[in-house]
Amino acid sequence: MNLEAFILGCGGMMPLPHRHLTSVLLRREGELFLFDSGEGTQVAIRRLNLRWKKISAIFISHTHADHVTGLPGLLMLSSQVERDDPLYIFGPPKIAEYIESSRRVLDMYINYQIVVKEINTPGIVYQGETFRIRAFPLRHSKSCVGYTLEEDARPGEFHPEKALERGVPLGPLWAKLQAGEPVPGADGHIVEPSEVLGPPRSGRKFSFVTDTLAFPDIAPEVAGSDLFICEGMFEHNLEATALEKKHMTAQQAAKIARDAGGIAKLALIHYSPRYADSDLKILLQEAQSIFPQSVLTRDRMVFPIEYID
Ligand SMILES: [Zn+2]
Ligand SMILES: [Zn+2]
Repeated sequence: MNLEAFILGCGGMMPLPHRHLTSVLLRREGELFLFDSGEGTQVAIRRLNLRWKKISAIFISHTHADHVTGLPGLLMLSSQVERDDPLYIFGPPKIAEYIESSRRVLDMYINYQIVVKEINTPGIVYQGETFRIRAFPLRHSKSCVGYTLEEDARPGEFHPEKALERGVPLGPLWAKLQAGEPVPGADGHIVEPSEVLGPPRSGRKFSFVTDTLAFPDIAPEVAGSDLFICEGMFEHNLEATALEKKHMTAQQAAKIARDAGGIAKLALIHYSPRYADSDLKILLQEAQSIFPQSVLTRDRMVFPIEYID
């Protein structure tokens, strides 16, 4: 099952000619989830040739302009195609007011249902059949949340020889065992799935954290992420500025990745517009000195998220 993160934009504060604002589209088995939507998100989606009408839910970190001004255009664009399912939008308080007032003032024609849910308490906000999306509080100049998508553990590896040994022939009973159901074996004995399956294998985890100062509670939330997308707005020299503006440096993001444990890759995002593309290597080097598996995001990059076992 494919899980991929598309970087629609990697900039913070203001869009630049070649750098859209921070926004990430996660595709899981054809279903799309959007994380933040700065000005021009619809252009970024089109440039990636994605089937944007299939966005199931949008997750907003906070209601600063660089994270939400793309929403009205995106919602209007979505009306140009048939859509039966509602579109869910999650975010901290004020997101409902923002969407409601945009719809009213702009006289937006929307031919599908939009369900806005404001997040007042941390926890699971969206549940799929085999995954869940959690929100947790960040510390910014206004109410802000981070998100994780976490898949359920998968059943362990199936050992056909063990099934045969216990008198379960090749056929539909194997599928039942793989799905975790006991089946009859030789002499009417019941064969338990644990007898023929290896230990459960972990699902995948994706985390999205932006616009926050660095603080210790982030690490346990993002621990074990296969892909941890995190703000790396400033270089180390500007740590005091970052703190004052309630943002973090690339190095602070790397420390969170290191301390969290089990993180396969840290991808930095939300760069200050003071950095030209050629300057971003400073942020990368500073992050890698602490957490070697750090990379830079760039607009239109795609990060496949693989199973580790
Ligand atoms: Zn921002
Ligand atoms: Zn902000």
